[in-house]
Amino acid sequence: MPLLEFTSKGIYCSQANVYLDPWRGVNKALITHGHSDHARWGSQHYITHELNVPIIKHRLGSISVVGKRYGDPFNINGVQFSFHPSGHVPGASQIRVEYKGEVWVFTGDYKVQSDGISTPFEPIKCHTFITESTFGLPVFQWEEPYRIHEKINIWWAENQAQKTTSLLMGYSLGKIQRLLKHLDPSIGTIYTHGATDEMTMVLRAYLDLPATKRITAETSKKEIEGNLVLAPPAVMGSTWIKKLGNLSTGYASGWMAFRGARRRRAVDRAFVLSDHADWNGLLSSIKATGCENVITTHGYTDLFAQYLSANGWNAKTEKTQYEGETLENSTEE
Ligand SMILES: [Zn+2]
Repeated sequence: MPLLEFTSKGIYCSQANVYLDPWRGVNKALITHGHSDHARWGSQHYITHELNVPIIKHRLGSISVVGKRYGDPFNINGVQFSFHPSGHVPGASQIRVEYKGEVWVFTGDYKVQSDGISTPFEPIKCHTFITESTFGLPVFQWEEPYRIHEKINIWWAENQAQKTTSLLMGYSLGKIQRLLKHLDPSIGTIYTHGATDEMTMVLRAYLDLPATKRITAETSKKEIEGNLVLAPPAVMGSTWIKKLGNLSTGYASGWMAFRGARRRRAVDRAFVLSDHADWNGLLSSIKATGCENVITTHGYTDLFAQYLSANGWNAKTEKTQYEGETLENSTEE
């Protein structure tokens, strides 16, 4: 019996009778991070990193949840578990599982570039590495993040000079706070959409972020003119967007590397900024674990597993319900 199995409810450790990021309700769930494809409603008890506790309480309501610190081991029926930084979003973890000398690591989602708000990714030695592969193709090579933040501030300043409002879109958990952290408040005022504002308020207690103003029914077009608005991608094509006046739209996502994705989204500016590892990031992380076995869970799973198999790893794909960074279904965080 493998230490972790892929079942109809999620990734299961039968020795400890716990699930990792289950997609159905279970008795005990260990959660890597707060995105809705990983932290799902309906389980009796949750265990996660301490910073992820307020995040999933905000998203899932009144739940029974215990927070752990990075690197602090805990034992369930002889199996030792611990959470380690995955660098994906604030509070995001990889989960290390050890039993009788055998070590598995489940990444959830991760990135190796530092984003200025999440604890940086930490490679963990293991025998079997269960990895995401959202951007597991060689075409995905990220630029240095500071270059993207520079482009965003220049775009905003140019829009402001023309009295145009900048609408910058990204996922409400992680991406928005990362964008906010690197915006230059000397250019103007930063406004937020309600959904964006709520998650940012949860994280403000833990992160040093520039001030923002929430857009309400009283906010006038004149007031926001030339300033910047942070919002989730779902606002594109909504009536809410019409209240903002003369706009330039920008979208920050790894998928913006694809011209077709930019055209489908019909945004004025595409900023290629992802909270997932690019091709080199995935490969360097796998090498750093020293693992022999790799299981790919979501993204370009089959192609990535084939590449790894051809290069010396025992690699395979398992079906999960994780989505990674989605483009079309981006109403969720
Ligand atoms: Zn995620």
